[in-house]
Amino acid sequence: MLKIALSKGRIFKEILPLLAQAEIEPLDDPETSRKLILDTNLKDVKLVIIRATDVPTYVEYGAADIGIAGKDVLLEFGSQRLYEPLDLQIARCRLMVAGFKNAPTPRNRLRIATKYINVAKQYYAEQGIQVEVIKLYGSMELAPLVGLADRIVDLVETGNTLRANGLEPLEFIADISSRLVVNKASMKMKHKRIKDLIQKMQLAIDTKN
Ligand code: AMP
Repeated sequence: MLKIALSKGRIFKEILPLLAQAEIEPLDDPETSRKLILDTNLKDVKLVIIRATDVPTYVEYGAADIGIAGKDVLLEFGSQRLYEPLDLQIARCRLMVAGFKNAPTPRNRLRIATKYINVAKQYYAEQGIQVEVIKLYGSMELAPLVGLADRIVDLVETGNTLRANGLEPLEFIADISSRLVVNKASMKMKHKRIKDLIQKMQLAIDTKN
């Protein structure tokens, strides 16, 4: 049995053609089905539908052999506990520091609002800048507007969301895209099956680009 953990929505839609190249087709649509474990055309392959931020946890503990997760989620999780053999080159964007353009540097410690607290702490630590990091779960753009934070760390694709709120991307942190991750024990125990899947998906990515 091979269990693949992924989230519904955008990632699911974009991953379908790559899975199809690996001859895997889900028998249910997670947008309409309430099932959390979806059967596929292959008896020995199931799709486990979970929140994007939970994907690395399921894979680390072996509850799923394989996962599909954004690099942002993996950076925040600390992905050295998983293998990351494939860049799927979908859902591409950038992780950025954003804020008001030309805002004066505050006299006190810079306040950063983000859901990526580990990434933000590491980014500023590497620069020797002391910051106060505030954890948020959504709508980071609001934080500078209401005086909760001086800057945010968030995903930026077109920059439209920032601009619509009078903010600007200020500093680049990392390029982001979806990645295939594999549980370390599964990679050994189910090596042939997983290697075959990776090769087929790699071929589909190369053909697409
Ligand atoms: P944009 O306005 O195109 O810069 O998109 C920014 C908004 O979309 C922010 O709220 C981001 O958190 C979200 N976003 C952008 N790219 C992605 C992505 N690849 N995956 C998930 N959320 C994203």
